[in-house]
Parts: sequence; C-alpha cells; structure tokens
Amino acid sequence: MSCSIGICIANEMNLVTDNILKYADSAMYRSKMKGGNSYSFYDPELQTLLEKLTELETDITRAIACNEFCAYFQPQVSMLGKVIGAEALIRWNHPSKGLIAPNEFIQIAEQYGLIQQLQNIVLRDICVLINRLNAEDIIDEQFSVSINISQSQFSASTLKSELLNTISNFNIGPSQIKLEITESMLSGDIDNTIQQMAEIKESGFTFSIDDFGTGYSCLTHLSAFPVKELKIDKSFIDKVLDDGTGFSIVQMIINLSKSLDLSVVAEGVEALEQFKTLKTMHVDSIQGYLISKPMSKNDYVKWHKDNVTKEF
Ligand code: C2E
Ligand code: CA
Ligand code: CA
Repeated sequence: MSCSIGICIANEMNLVTDNILKYADSAMYRSKMKGGNSYSFYDPELQTLLEKLTELETDITRAIACNEFCAYFQPQVSMLGKVIGAEALIRWNHPSKGLIAPNEFIQIAEQYGLIQQLQNIVLRDICVLINRLNAEDIIDEQFSVSINISQSQFSASTLKSELLNTISNFNIGPSQIKLEITESMLSGDIDNTIQQMAEIKESGFTFSIDDFGTGYSCLTHLSAFPVKELKIDKSFIDKVLDDGTGFSIVQMIINLSKSLDLSVVAEGVEALEQFKTLKTMHVDSIQGYLISKPMSKNDYVKWHKDNVTKEF
C-alpha cells in the first residue's frame, strides 16, 4: 500500500470548501504522477493542465461513441520490393480539429482506461482490411498486419482472449496479426512475461519488438522471449548514411537479429539511398515514407493493388 498526499493551503482568498477539496485533489494527483508515496502542494498551472486532460478524456469518450477513430495503414516491403505486410496506426478524425495523430491522445487514453476500446477499433479495421485484400485476391497467407500494443493491454490477462474474439468474428487467422511491443514492456517479471507471450504465440500470433535500440534490452533475455522480428527505430535509420557510428549501430542490430534468427525491419526509411544501403546490410524489409505514408483503408487497398510488387 502506498500513500499520496495533496495539500492546499486555505487563506482569506480561498475559502470555498469545494475549491479547497478540488485543489487538494489535484495536488494529490501530482503526487501520484510522481510515483506515489509523496506529498505535493496545489499548483494553479497543474490545475489548468488537469482540466485540459479531463476535457480531452471527455472528448475521446464522445469521439468513440461518434465513430471518429479509425486505423490508417502503412505498407512494409521486402528488399525485393514485395509488399509483405502493413502496420495499423490509429487516427482521430476530429470534426473541428481535423486528423489527429496518436501522440496527442494515446497516453491519455491509456491513463483513463480507454485504450482497450481504441484497440478494438484498430483490430476491427485490420480484420476488415485483410478480408478486403483477400476478397480481391491480392495477398497470400504470409501477409500480416501489425498492431501496436500498449503497456496496460500487454499487462492485462485478457489480451489473448480479446484478440481471439475479434479475429474469429471476422474469420481471420492469428498468423496474419503481428503484435508490436516495446523493449520496456519486456522488463519487470521476466518469467511471467515469457509465459504470457508464449501462450499468445501458441494461439498463432507473432511478436515484433518496436523502436528497437531506444530502450534497455537485456541481450541475454532477448533470445528467451518468443519474438519473431525486431524493428530498428527511425532514429538509427536517420543516421545510417553517416559514416561511423550511425552505420555501425544499424549493422550491429541487423547482425544481432540474424544471430537470434529474427527478421529485421527498418522503420522510417525516407530516402532511396537509405534503402540501397540497408539492402547491402541485409535488412529483411522496410517501412517508411519512401514507400508510402500511412493511408486510410480505402487508399491502402487502392495502393496495394497498384503496388503488389514495388519497383525501385
Ligand atoms: P510507431 O509504432 O513507432 O509508428 C511509427 C510512426 O512513425 C508512425 O507515426 C508513422 O506514421 C511514422 N512514420 C512512418 N514512416 C515514417 C517516415 O518515413 N518518416 C517519418 N518522419 N515518420 C514516419 P504515428 O502514426 O503518428 O504514430 C506514432 C506512435 O503512436 C506510434 O509509433 C505508436 O507508438 C503509437 N500508436 C499508433 N497507433 C497506435 C495504436 O493503435 N495503439 C497504440 N497503443 N499505439 C499506437
Ligand atoms: Ca509500431
Ligand atoms: Ca516504431
């Protein structure tokens, strides 16, 4: 058990009971944000921030009910130019603010317990897309779509059943869904994590480690986790054309993947020169603006038809 304390000092300027309680409550929230077991004083700036967060939370809840969220898709292409998969990336089609990128709302959705609902929307869109591509007969069974899994979902014991429920409603096989997790999710109780991942893998899903290289990975444990793929973070790909360390780090990650028998994807590839260099380095596939920006479902289907094999 831990204790988080919020303190509001009452004076002549501030004697409305409801306000005092509200301010003390927001100070307590700050203590919680510090990790708990601490005390904080009321801070008007923090109050404004909290009010904004609460507004955003209300707006997300409204937007879920109004069907404003959907998945966009960004293709992944092998070094021979074959489209081998796509990553689903959530977007918020806001009536007044336009298309909003996930960095602006994912963390809040996670904090306020709304992430599962958003994830269900993304998974449902993935299933609809796979069914459409199947109906057009333009994908084979190797084609898979990646979904980003957040920390709270990954820790929830219901992850496997949620995934299985949705895909079976759409008659999709689990091998066509790849779960992207980050390195930090692999810290903590390692045996428990391996066990949970093994169960999900046994159902037929595969795992990919996203943003690889940016977090702390324990290399001895890496081989113990049932993952199939590493995604080299864009920050390293940005430097792959620099002589020296940029190139060496990418080569090191590629060599590591090969020695652990994992496939390796380069993220955020924007230039043809990067692609050519990565090809000589034996990366397996790439994803990035060079191939395409993320697209709506309809645009993706059109793009896929025109680019079943992408020419370089
Ligand atoms: P991520 O998983 O690392 O996704 C890659 C991000 O890089 C995407 O941003 C993508 O649009 C962008 N990107 C791809 N290629 C390029 C490129 O060549 N150049 C540049 N500059 N950017 C590129 P996006 O869609 O804004 O997503 C940001 C992050 O939000 C994602 O990072 C992921 O962590 C999170 N996210 C997205 N969708 C979901 C979701 O459905 N669930 C969860 N839990 N998180 C999501
Ligand atoms: Ca990702
Ligand atoms: Ca990434």
